[in-house]
Amino acid sequence: MTTPRTVAVIGGGISGLSTAYALHEKAAAVGIPIRCTVVDASSDWGGKIVTHRIGDLVTEAGPDSFLSQKTAAIELCAKLGLTDQLINTNETSKRACVFSQGRLRELPEGLVVISPNQLGPFLRSGLLSWSGLARMGLDLAMPGKRSPDDESLASFFRRRMGRQAFERMLEPLMAGIYAGDAEQMSVQATFPRFVELEQQYGSVIRGMMTARKAGSSARPAGPKRTMFVSLKNGLSDLVTALVARLTEQGVTLRGGCAVEALRVRSHQLGRWMYDVILNDGSALSVDSLVLATPAYVSAELVRPLTPIAGGLLDMIPYASTATIAMAYPRAAVSGSAEGFGFVVPRAEGRDLIAATWTSLKWPHRAPSDQLLVRCYVGGVGREAILQLDDQALVARVREELASMCGVTANPGYVEVNRWMKAMPQYTLGHLDRLNQIEGALSRYGGLVLTGAGYRGVGIPDCIRDGAIAADRVVRYLSGERPS
Ligand SMILES: Cc1cc2nc3c(=O)[nH]c(=O)nc-3n(C[C@H](O)[C@H](O)[C@H](O)COP(=O)(O)OP(=O)(O)OC[C@H]3O[C@@H](n4cnc5c(N)ncnc54)[C@H](O)[C@@H]3O)c2cc1C
Repeated sequence: MTTPRTVAVIGGGISGLSTAYALHEKAAAVGIPIRCTVVDASSDWGGKIVTHRIGDLVTEAGPDSFLSQKTAAIELCAKLGLTDQLINTNETSKRACVFSQGRLRELPEGLVVISPNQLGPFLRSGLLSWSGLARMGLDLAMPGKRSPDDESLASFFRRRMGRQAFERMLEPLMAGIYAGDAEQMSVQATFPRFVELEQQYGSVIRGMMTARKAGSSARPAGPKRTMFVSLKNGLSDLVTALVARLTEQGVTLRGGCAVEALRVRSHQLGRWMYDVILNDGSALSVDSLVLATPAYVSAELVRPLTPIAGGLLDMIPYASTATIAMAYPRAAVSGSAEGFGFVVPRAEGRDLIAATWTSLKWPHRAPSDQLLVRCYVGGVGREAILQLDDQALVARVREELASMCGVTANPGYVEVNRWMKAMPQYTLGHLDRLNQIEGALSRYGGLVLTGAGYRGVGIPDCIRDGAIAADRVVRYLSGERPS
């Protein structure tokens, strides 16, 4: 019998766990026996995916849902037998707002796809002035940019849609996803689709309309999914199911064990043995190694092997944020909360980035006599608020809710979750940096990086990238030379 090849995956967030899952699947498909170990510094698996269950309340400390259009997460749920747990957002209260010029204004439905065939709702919302709207429409007439150079999100959208549309609608939606500063973020690394649309159709709006028409006639078979979906009892069910499946497959899961250092030994020409030094004094020696840790952790680990890759990884900044969940007696806030929630443009100069009426969006998350809200603060340039202690932070967020939507009642339940250095920022030149990192690591076949720091922060992106990492490991183990 062939000796199993050994692989260690460092980091047991969704990226590391799904990489280990895909490794087994792919290695089995080509008949390579592998022995895989997943190591995580925390004794809890799942990294940023953390669900709390408090009586009948279900709160998410980190992510609360994922995009259904990017199918990797839904497909993984299906493989793990979780399809019947997938839930859509509550279509009866499907309304999102933006806090602009002193009040909440409804975002026209379909704004996320920037559809100009919704002119009526755009005008009624008062979000854009006539001139702002006209400037946005110029996107249809303006020629596309010729230079292939990277561009900031702010520059791209101001150029195509004008300052007003950017500041009042697009910036807050993007800040809600990346907790970032659109002036620094790379459009090619964060929303490459918009760049493609500009190149292909000469206009983002025209491209979106065409894609929308094509998309509505080519809806995939299967149950209808809303743009965002979640799991009925919280996203940590995905982690629990993955951990259970990996255990069944014989994967060794070592929680509560941080990797302190890596050493590399050459044991055949061009083939390496990786020694993974753990903080309990033990070490693992493996044929292949996947680092699914945040980029700044991976930077320290690879620095002794290649200082260039270490330095480049360090150039991927991370933003800190916090989520504050509060549950109110429903009667005490009736009339104040409607729809899914709201986002707040940076230009408003407020502390709140966004708030989600969680139990209106996902009715399973609180009993019907309670309203669960989740507030989001922090992010690039707005991190000072995180220096407040929990009590002061909650007081600040409650002041924001009171002034923005009139919620003055006392919450019956409050929870603060701090996420320090948690949201990777794909700043200008990010894709070039990734290429340079790959180049610097290329001599270490079998050493692969994956995780939210590189090619997508969303859960489906992490799962997809984990599968690509697994594929690279299996190719390496089956003797293919890395390209
Ligand atoms: C507040 C918040 C809200 C979000 N909302 C959404 C959302 O609604 N939808 C969505 O799709 N995405 C959302 N995201 C993004 C998404 O949750 C993350 O990008 C994703 O979960 C990251 O997964 P990961 O496995 O790459 O990293 P992580 O989850 O960070 O996992 C990395 C793991 O590495 C471990 N580790 C670190 N150092 C070491 C070491 N030295 N040795 C061993 N292990 C180590 C850590 O303990 C951790 O478990 C959100 C993120 C945050 C913070």
